[in-house]
Amino acid sequence: MTVSDTLVPFAAAVERYEPVIGLETHVELGTRTKMFCGCTTTFGAEPNTQVCPVCLGLPGSLPVVNRTAIEYTIRIGLALNCTIAEWCRFARKNYFYPDMPKNFQISQYDEPLCTDGWLDVDVDGRTLRVGIERVHLEEDTGKSLHVGGATGRIHGAAYSLVDYNRAGIPLVEIVTKPIPGTGADAPVAARRYVTELRDLLRSLHVSDVRMEEGSLRCDVNTSLAPRGAAQWGTRTETKNVNSLRSVERAVEFEIERQAAVLDAGGRVKQETRHFHEDTGTTTAGRSKEEAQDYRYFPEPDLVPVAPPRDWVEQIRAALPEPPAARRARLRAEWDLSEADMAALANAGALDLVAETVAAGASPADARKWWRGELARRANAAGAELSALAISPAQVARVSELVAAGTLNDKLARQVIDAVLDGAGDPDEVVATRGLAVVSDESALTTAVDEAIAANPEVAAKVRDGKVAAAGVLLGAVMKATRGQADAARVRELIMERLGS
Ligand SMILES: [Zn+2]
Repeated sequence: MTVSDTLVPFAAAVERYEPVIGLETHVELGTRTKMFCGCTTTFGAEPNTQVCPVCLGLPGSLPVVNRTAIEYTIRIGLALNCTIAEWCRFARKNYFYPDMPKNFQISQYDEPLCTDGWLDVDVDGRTLRVGIERVHLEEDTGKSLHVGGATGRIHGAAYSLVDYNRAGIPLVEIVTKPIPGTGADAPVAARRYVTELRDLLRSLHVSDVRMEEGSLRCDVNTSLAPRGAAQWGTRTETKNVNSLRSVERAVEFEIERQAAVLDAGGRVKQETRHFHEDTGTTTAGRSKEEAQDYRYFPEPDLVPVAPPRDWVEQIRAALPEPPAARRARLRAEWDLSEADMAALANAGALDLVAETVAAGASPADARKWWRGELARRANAAGAELSALAISPAQVARVSELVAAGTLNDKLARQVIDAVLDGAGDPDEVVATRGLAVVSDESALTTAVDEAIAANPEVAAKVRDGKVAAAGVLLGAVMKATRGQADAARVRELIMERLGS
């Protein structure tokens, strides 16, 4: 630890200092092709198989704007209550970077497509209106892979490889205005903003917004000033924070670190910092470039973008219900508490439950399956709920079969296993594997009589009023019917037979 890594405990830091946060979020758009060429954008393809002269920046190639990317960006801008520019241009941002083949990035500078909006965020029951400075469009860089080092970073690596598949994928940058006044809630507010933004983007169908695959990436700005000071402090920019939890931790750490710097009479340096997932700490990166370092100028190879007003209005008219409004509506319809609804959303189960209810299940049953059994399966497989090989309609059918008494919970779990294994729809599984509940009274009665005959001492105890002993007989019947009997009915039959 160096002196600058001394920390002030969080509570003490926010008691004396006022944090101001800001977030810059990069979103890879889910367009089929890249921003300025026709290359495909599939994630995880063999390195350097999705490239062409344009995205490799070869001499003589010329970019053409992807219309769908413009439409998606306008959709995002409108959903964030922004003004859509009537005319704007792309700019060249010049800097050298090995995974950027052209040595400049086509971005937007002083003429962004969308400006001056807001997003309401719920922070512990209080609405925080986060101002949106701008939403602009640019192209992503490629990816470097450093081989031979212990950490996967360039230091200590034997050599580096570069993959240009990602170079040129449309990237939207969403920049907030500075967010003052959150005090001790600053870390939570940052996390809640990114969560709400992610849900909004998902509802707009413009990106798959997977933080773990890098299609949603966050830079977190934090500054600290003594309470009551006339000016805000100097901000640091923590780069590429790759999970919601890390967003919260990065702000928390920067507050604790900057408070220590200020306590010691030092000055916070304006710089980029790297967040380390394993320790929850940040370390200094490069000192922050100023805009002039990038030598911006209007991109000469592209015409200006001037979206017609009627097109913008068409896009506005087709916007989906905002996630916050939808959550409020569903919460009322399903009669859930705020906490239950938040848990559902955080587990990524909200849409699945909604679709299961739409397919005929009761909200309570739909929640029970997705939050219980299926969440366990997804956890065990290390997968997202939505990646499970079972559809909401199939879950609704299982739930229907349980309600009708065809399946008990145990059998329902077996049916779900079989569906997950690809054995077909629930009805097929029930038919081919004979998994339905045995409801044939005479078969059940026979099984009960056999269990009593095989366990005379237990039967005698039950006759003497020791009702708990009936569990042994129930177990024997369930075993004989391979778990396919209706347990409640079996218990009734045992009691009838033993006159207890
Ligand atoms: Zn290309």
